[in-house]
Amino acid sequence: MITASNFFFESSTELKLLKTTAPNSTGAFFKQSTHITLGHMEKIDVLIIGAGVSGSVAALKAAKEGLRTVIVEKKKKPGDPQTRVDITRDSGITEIVQELKLEIGDHSRVSRWFSPKDSFILTSKIGDYFVKRGQEEDSFEVSTLRKAENAGAEVITGVRIEGIKKDGHMVNEVILNSGEEISPGYVIAASGQEPDVLRKMGIKLEEKNPVHFIAYGEISIGLDIPKKVSHIFFDSKTIPHGYFYMGKTSEGLGVSAVVLSSDEIMNVKERYRHFIEHNNTVSGQISKYRVLNSFYSSRYAAEIGERVHGNVLLVGDSGRFMDPLVGYGVNPSIYTGYWAADAIKRQDLAAYKKSIRKTLDEIRNGRKGRNVFLALKNEDFDMLMEGMKELSKEIDIDEFMDNPGRYSLHIAKAVLKKPGLVSMLKYLPSFI
Ligand SMILES: Cc1cc2nc3c(=O)[nH]c(=O)nc-3n(C[C@H](O)[C@H](O)[C@H](O)COP(=O)(O)OP(=O)(O)OC[C@H]3O[C@@H](n4cnc5c(N)ncnc54)[C@H](O)[C@@H]3O)c2cc1C
Repeated sequence: MITASNFFFESSTELKLLKTTAPNSTGAFFKQSTHITLGHMEKIDVLIIGAGVSGSVAALKAAKEGLRTVIVEKKKKPGDPQTRVDITRDSGITEIVQELKLEIGDHSRVSRWFSPKDSFILTSKIGDYFVKRGQEEDSFEVSTLRKAENAGAEVITGVRIEGIKKDGHMVNEVILNSGEEISPGYVIAASGQEPDVLRKMGIKLEEKNPVHFIAYGEISIGLDIPKKVSHIFFDSKTIPHGYFYMGKTSEGLGVSAVVLSSDEIMNVKERYRHFIEHNNTVSGQISKYRVLNSFYSSRYAAEIGERVHGNVLLVGDSGRFMDPLVGYGVNPSIYTGYWAADAIKRQDLAAYKKSIRKTLDEIRNGRKGRNVFLALKNEDFDMLMEGMKELSKEIDIDEFMDNPGRYSLHIAKAVLKKPGLVSMLKYLPSFI
């Protein structure tokens, strides 16, 4: 049980961490483990393990709240080694982006959805962010870490967790591989999907219903699509149980990728090429593009029980917050990183459990959506696009998607006009 009396440590207990003496190749000045001069058992308010999306946001929020914050990252250079643009939903994070002044990239409310024969343009209250990932200064992770450092967080790179000592459920000592020992009031586990950190802390996740995603994509210039409009393609023949997406930032940086489920046996890069060759729209749009780099991903979403274990809070991919329908992980990482730090500031871990309920609801809906998605064939995708176009003439599609059951009458009218849509009705109960 953490109480107010043992939470805030003596303000005179300074962390004496030297500034990095040389920039890494990206020009960033984060502290390297070899330069740390931590005293024996330094006491801090919060230790964040992992400086990806969730960890960097947690560090910024915690530091801005005045907490004595240390964030450790095992890589010498923080940021994802694969430069790319991630597209993620904006829901629930716009206020966080504004409050922390995050460099999140372009914001768009327009997306275009393609079936093999048709397409539908959706203008929605729920938009997308185009998030630059990588190790460059303007990537989301590095720019957020820089802000965290300016707000007072100690950012230590090139360091690993060697050992962890616990008193019951509470982590009370963390030993770094460089020999230093830290005594944290709270720990935020933000180390992604690698099991190492949780295992060392003796936290076992009972994972259920994993959904594996495997993706291959390319970052390019010269993609012939409008800027800030994400394009999503479905084709159950060329990309079964998956989708292809494209986007272009306002600076002209393009991203195109295929995302598949792991039961897919064909090589994901081959599948990417195969889809492009068989889709006339896409092959035209990428005909003049120049690839800057490619990226590859293998991740999974899963159901787990608790995200709070003693004084440890799991955030982002460590807490398995990835959306199981499309594999969005950036949105829940920003959201959970922020709310974990906020709960620690308030010394109210129940507040974290409360604030992640909305995200967990979205994950549940994603699961329902996924069950429907897996059953769809190309005729269904064509019908869906037609149905959405028909419905959008009469109703607000945002409201429809929030509560499809309320619009049964409108659906019936659309079906009367286009009898081919009748077979789509079988999917409605899954969403009600
Ligand atoms: C190629 C690819 C494409 C993707 N595309 C999208 C997309 O378009 N939209 C979207 O929403 N999501 C996308 N995702 C998912 C998204 O990137 C992740 O969900 C998100 O990065 C999770 O953030 P995180 O902070 O939890 O973990 P990560 O970003 O993985 O960060 C974890 C950090 O912890 C560090 N770490 C690990 N172990 C230790 C340790 N022992 N000690 C110290 N540090 C440690 C790692 O080095 C890493 O820096 C994609 C993922 C990949 C790989």
